[in-house]
Amino acid sequence: MEKTLVFVLNCGSSSLKFSLIDSQSHDEVLSGLGDALGSDAPLIKYKYQGNKQTIDLPASATHQIAVDTIVTLLADLSLTDAVIAVGHRVVHGGELFTQSVVITDHVLSQLEQLSKLAPLHNPANIIGIKAASQAFPSLKQIAVFDTAFHQTMPEKAYIYALPRLLYKDHGIRRYGFHGTSHLYITQQAAAILDKPQDDINIISAHLGNGASVTAIKSGKSVDTSMGLTPLEGLVMGTRCGDLDPAISQYMIDQLDYTNEQVNDIFNKKSGLLGLSDISNDCRIVEERAEKGDALCKLAIDVFCYRLAKYIASYTVPLGRLDALVFTGGIGENSDMIRTKVIEQLTIFGFEVDAQANLSARFGKGGKITTTNSPIAMVIPTNEELVIALDAISLIEE
Ligand code: ADP
Repeated sequence: MEKTLVFVLNCGSSSLKFSLIDSQSHDEVLSGLGDALGSDAPLIKYKYQGNKQTIDLPASATHQIAVDTIVTLLADLSLTDAVIAVGHRVVHGGELFTQSVVITDHVLSQLEQLSKLAPLHNPANIIGIKAASQAFPSLKQIAVFDTAFHQTMPEKAYIYALPRLLYKDHGIRRYGFHGTSHLYITQQAAAILDKPQDDINIISAHLGNGASVTAIKSGKSVDTSMGLTPLEGLVMGTRCGDLDPAISQYMIDQLDYTNEQVNDIFNKKSGLLGLSDISNDCRIVEERAEKGDALCKLAIDVFCYRLAKYIASYTVPLGRLDALVFTGGIGENSDMIRTKVIEQLTIFGFEVDAQANLSARFGKGGKITTTNSPIAMVIPTNEELVIALDAISLIEE
């Protein structure tokens, strides 16, 4: 096999997504998920040449064991020699990283410093980097940051109205996330609209379990809905998004919640799950809403209303809007959510083309508005490809 593959690793606290991307054909040669790491029944699921397989791991298996198992798997499939780099999704690059970098000892220590900004995410990313460095000692490891694309935001967009020292001395500001996805959407939208990337103004709505919307002017992020952490902004699967910040103090002082409980509720029990009282899975909430479940209907309404308000507000920094783009699991598949959002944007002249909207699902993108309307479209995202291409460009430097 030709030496064209990049091993892409996305480590979460108890899971690990991986794929092998062919940097020339852009195909995903293999993809998989290491799940329930550290638990009684950890496992690896993967898909190769259309076949789905599962590998059971020993109880309490760590990220290192999972990575070592994947490395053995690649060897068994005779793929190891074709791998030329390892690309890591790293959640928080703070203000230190405005683009992807080759990981050195110095970079690793910078990532460790940044862990305090993303205590749920960066430590897992670092474990993945160390495990992959051991497993592939001769390959370069590249870090691709969720925050990097948003480093072009102007200060008026990223600064909180808090005392200056909280930013200056402690780095408290808005950073934004999902940057690799928003960048990919920008590149694709430019190609589809046949415009240079530096002359494209879009609003990109990445709606997955986590969700964020970004205003992109002249190809650069100028505002985004997530903040210091991925908790701010839109209603998400289990995250509440924007709140009155006094709510946490109220819950602690008046309702006897602990700090940890409040954190857990805001991050893991809110959003679609909290509102619907049923599920964080948009498909389930939609199905129930269609059958008349009042809380599920409300959950969808709040999700769409919040998103529509954000989209409307992002016309402010843009001036001219070339397209509104939906992506992520919900954005790429839910014609219902897209319709409900666009129907609240009629003030801008948006009008859904029902048939086109129904067609743009399950991996198929396309324009979903009528000819008289401003353009809204669906573009399936591909964060792994951005990571792989960045890794290739950095090892070739
Ligand atoms: P992650 O942020 O974990 O990468 P994804 O981008 O895969 O998440 O998005 C997961 C979300 O997409 C889930 O809420 C899921 O219900 C939703 N989703 C997937 N397919 C559909 C569909 N056909 N209709 C509505 N929602 C969908």
